[in-house]
Amino acid sequence: MQYLSDNDTNTHRVCGTCNELKPLTEFYKDGKDTEGNYRYRRDCKECYKNTRMQEAAMKLRREK
Ligand SMILES: [Zn+2]
Repeated sequence: MQYLSDNDTNTHRVCGTCNELKPLTEFYKDGKDTEGNYRYRRDCKECYKNTRMQEAAMKLRREK
């Protein structure tokens, strides 16, 4: 029998950025795998937003 990892379950997963265990509703879906199961982004919505804001800020700085 194969065990799920301690952190990733059917309902929760650990964010790759803040390392917090969060419900899948806090992650953006990222398409489906070959078996038709939903895949989720590595980062939670909050971290994704932060990353995007950082990228935007860096881009702004570069353009000025
Ligand atoms: Zn996070």
